[in-house]
Amino acid sequence: MALSAVDETVHVRAPGKLNLFFEVGHPQGDGYHDVASVYQAVSLYEDVWATPADEFTVAVSGTADVSGVPLDDGNLALRAARALAAHIGYDGGVHLEIVKHVPVAGGMGGGSADAAAALVACDAVWGAGLGAAELQHLAARLGADVPFALMGGTAVGTGRGDRLSPALARARFDWVLVADDEGLSTPGVYRRLDELRAAPAPGVAAAPPVPGVDPVVLQALRAGDAAALAGGLRNDLQAAALDLHPRLREVFERGVAENGALAGIVSGSGPTVAFLTAGPERALELQVALAAAGATALHVHGPVRGAHIIG
Ligand code: ATP
Repeated sequence: MALSAVDETVHVRAPGKLNLFFEVGHPQGDGYHDVASVYQAVSLYEDVWATPADEFTVAVSGTADVSGVPLDDGNLALRAARALAAHIGYDGGVHLEIVKHVPVAGGMGGGSADAAAALVACDAVWGAGLGAAELQHLAARLGADVPFALMGGTAVGTGRGDRLSPALARARFDWVLVADDEGLSTPGVYRRLDELRAAPAPGVAAAPPVPGVDPVVLQALRAGDAAALAGGLRNDLQAAALDLHPRLREVFERGVAENGALAGIVSGSGPTVAFLTAGPERALELQVALAAAGATALHVHGPVRGAHIIG
């Protein structure tokens, strides 16, 4: 394929996500679960620089603990770059420099954001000029959360979470995130949910025949009503994440009961907990209070845009 690759480095930024609503169905024949998700992209970003090279290589650093991030073909951003090269018939390579801010294995889709950023960066650096639809198609093959990291904003995801439709959320929502030092494996959390559902207990939602989003959540997003959204937050994986990391219960206690967050929710498969607040001032107060109690607390807002070129 004739391409006009640029000599320079391309810098792309992609957001982490929260799941404001996450309903999980029964496991399917292929082991995956159908879900109904409401995603929101938030202002905690991954930065990826792509430079044309002969080989495919990656370097990773960041404010998040990056010791668990693979530097070989297990790295989702490298897999994204290779997938794009194969798709366009490009026989060169790329060096990716990733600076991570999204907690690793934290339920905020950091690896997926890296993959989305790599797709956009390689598309530009190799002069491929693929449109949004083609990039979305490649993204869906890389992982369930990659299409949303490309799209950003607020969206409903069905299927494995990768069939997206944008949701209207004009207002800004302020969140305080509490990260945990020890990540959770996404497949492990799904497995634990299946086990918990096999012997139903209070707090464990039964699998719905067909997962669907509660209209209350979409209405609250449209209206920009944080209090109403707080009442509609739901994550079926939360019971499993709490079972695997019981200390998260104290985090909830501290955020909601002791410090007045409107509500808290485990994001995705956890263990990051996101507290919804009534606005920027309340979020700042909550962040300070949680940090004083020894937590790693970050104030972010959403929705923000998906993977995009900087500069
Ligand atoms: P999910 O998208 O399932 O919610 P997560 O946010 O919990 O994922 P990630 O940080 O995206 O977790 O990554 C989960 C695992 O994927 C890591 O433990 C790591 O082994 C692997 N991984 C592969 N590529 C990357 C990457 N670029 N950044 C972080 N982890 C990666």
